[in-house]
Amino acid sequence: MAEKFDGIVVGAGPAGIAAALRMAGAGMKVAVIERGEYPGSKNVMGGILYRQPTEELVPRFYEEAPLERPITESRLWLMGDGNVVSIGCRAAAFAEEPHNAYSVLRAKFDQWFASKAVEKGALVLCETVVRDCLTEGDRVVGIRTDRPQGELLADVVVLADGVNSLLARELDMREEIRPDRVAQAVKEVISLPPGKIEDRFNIERGEGVSIEAIGDATRGLVGTAWIYTNRDSISIGVGGLLEGVGHRRLRPNDLIEHFKGLPPVRRLIEGGKTEEYLAHLIPEGGYRSLPRLVGKGVMVVGDAAMLVNGLHREGSNMAMISGKFAGEAAVEAWKRGDFSRRSLEAYVDKLKDSFIIKDLKKYSRALPFFERNPHFFRLYPGLVGRAVAEFLTVDGVPKREKQARIFDILYERGRWNLYRDLYNAWRVLR
Ligand SMILES: Cc1cc2nc3c(=O)[nH]c(=O)nc-3n(C[C@H](O)[C@H](O)[C@H](O)COP(=O)(O)OP(=O)(O)OC[C@H]3O[C@@H](n4cnc5c(N)ncnc54)[C@H](O)[C@@H]3O)c2cc1C
Repeated sequence: MAEKFDGIVVGAGPAGIAAALRMAGAGMKVAVIERGEYPGSKNVMGGILYRQPTEELVPRFYEEAPLERPITESRLWLMGDGNVVSIGCRAAAFAEEPHNAYSVLRAKFDQWFASKAVEKGALVLCETVVRDCLTEGDRVVGIRTDRPQGELLADVVVLADGVNSLLARELDMREEIRPDRVAQAVKEVISLPPGKIEDRFNIERGEGVSIEAIGDATRGLVGTAWIYTNRDSISIGVGGLLEGVGHRRLRPNDLIEHFKGLPPVRRLIEGGKTEEYLAHLIPEGGYRSLPRLVGKGVMVVGDAAMLVNGLHREGSNMAMISGKFAGEAAVEAWKRGDFSRRSLEAYVDKLKDSFIIKDLKKYSRALPFFERNPHFFRLYPGLVGRAVAEFLTVDGVPKREKQARIFDILYERGRWNLYRDLYNAWRVLR
């Protein structure tokens, strides 16, 4: 006879562990099934972790979690035509404990996060692949794993199995992955002594920097490249819409090598040793790509539910908060003894009331707009660089004439095209 749990979570990433924390914390009998050797062993993130959402699950986590560095400075690089325009912010509040965000390495962080769910009483079962969901009619009643006699029953199953979520697809809750709705990302972890990191990034011990770069950084693809400082390593990566990568026949490895070879990047990583090379998809389709989030006895959370805000580099927070909401909805359903679709809809209501659906809705037109207007990534970063360089060049040219030259550069795509682009960008981002 298959063992029965109150709740089963598939996947021990931030979304799954958040759901398990809420359910086990309320006294439910919970199992988390993870295919990796340990939680985090297969997981990829840039990775910036945000304090506020994490604290909703584990108060004062920063006193014990394996964090790399607090992010005390964020920079944005516009790269093109050999120029880099850098815009940075060192907010006083970000330098203070508890900080706004931290760099993390998921292999360490996820293990620690999962241990918190174990402390609450959840069973975390690793090296176990969930093959499919067990159903009775249209109700999910458990899972089938790759272990001998590997069936487990549950009143509610939370699918937190990441961007590919074969399980949500099998239940017809999600459509196939579309290349215009996911980004292909590659990442390396490059080791460097802490002192070198601090010198090169102009920071003190216990401080950290995040750099996002667009333009030539991604060879003009709609996407970003990034560099984050860890304690004694640097996370560096590039991500671009799968469609663009395919169209231009770019190989992910060439993209990261190109970025690493750009002079400002080369100087930051010089002498470092590549310790890890990882590739992963990021679901960036936003509001238009949301799947069916709830069924009878089942909920979909995190990347499996396509909950990522690519413009703001937010994914782990949406994963945790959606997991938390699903966990809370499961607890309410358990108390009522009602795991019907209607009862679990409380999860969707919570998502709708939160920043998650509000933000995804706000930017619902942004990705298609930038796909149709790739010059924002291919052309404009270079033009801005040349215009700023012209402004800074002291060459005896009277300032009025210099101003005219700057406008000539900015109008290279046509004056009205520029105004139209700016207006349209404002409309989709406001
Ligand atoms: C390159 C990259 C950079 C990113 N950078 C950032 C960043 O800086 N900040 C940020 O907030 N977000 C970032 N994100 C997004 C963030 O990583 C995700 O949004 C977040 O990890 C989603 O969490 P999740 O728990 O939903 O899924 P995941 O973290 O993908 O976890 C899914 C888990 O399910 C397991 N699993 C899958 N299928 C099965 C199965 N059949 N049986 C058992 N287990 C299974 C997997 O092994 C995995 O452990 C980045 C993503 C990528 C790819």
